[in-house]
Amino acid sequence: MSTVALRSLVKRYGNVNAVDDITLDVAEGQLVALLGPSGCGKTTTLRMIGGFVEASAGSILIGGTDVTRLPPARRNIGFGFQSYALFPHMSVAQNVAFGLEMRRLPRAEIAQRVNQALDRVRLRAMADRLPKHLSGGQQQRVSLARALVIEPSLLLLDEPLSNLDAQLRGEMKLEIRQIQKAMGITTIFVTHDQDEALSIADRIVVMRSGRIEQDGTPESVFAAP
Ligand code: ADP
Ligand code: ADP
Repeated sequence: MSTVALRSLVKRYGNVNAVDDITLDVAEGQLVALLGPSGCGKTTTLRMIGGFVEASAGSILIGGTDVTRLPPARRNIGFGFQSYALFPHMSVAQNVAFGLEMRRLPRAEIAQRVNQALDRVRLRAMADRLPKHLSGGQQQRVSLARALVIEPSLLLLDEPLSNLDAQLRGEMKLEIRQIQKAMGITTIFVTHDQDEALSIADRIVVMRSGRIEQDGTPESVFAAP
């Protein structure tokens, strides 16, 4: 559980500033929605925090440590994608274990942590199945378990609900929020959907054209001016 600080963060593609001088402080345990129309720079911001896109300028601090030049694997971040990005030939448990095996943890500890993560998303009974035998909502929960099993100091979610139907979206929203609060894990959540941001986030940061346009509680951001 860590604070996140973005300091004058910029990403340029050619002469386009996809992210144009973002400064933001996220408190420990806060669930922040980055909200804005397509192309405003949400995903690019998230990918810079995750280390998958290199910042053109500025810096990123996680728990007070400057991670701007660290590779993704050294940032201790859990990442949930819009497409679940599960390995199709691996079972649910193998998918969840993957990050721990990369870290060369002892077998018994891996098994224990995978079971705990699967319990958290109520999928222990599905441990030996292949992803293709799971529903979309279940696959999304595997992806969440895989992000959480490394005990990340920060959780980044990119449109985690957008591939789900309306009912599942409502259920996953509650589930993400409940797990996020139970673990107290600092979370940044990208969405283009106002209602989603309003109903899940502690705080909403509205982006437009690479900049922060509004920042506050859901009530204050959506209050009439
Ligand atoms: P959002 O997630 O809010 O939809 P993005 O962060 O994906 O926005 O994109 C912000 C801007 O940066 C857009 O104009 C997009 O076309 C541009 N962009 C994103 N990735 C690249 C890239 N790899 N190369 C060039 N331009 C990019
Ligand atoms: P998303 O909004 O989920 O990032 P996009 O369709 O905008 O999805 O982008 C898909 C991929 O293409 C991303 O890796 C993004 O960085 C890249 N991309 C987006 N816009 C551009 C662009 N103008 N030129 C090159 N790559 C881009």
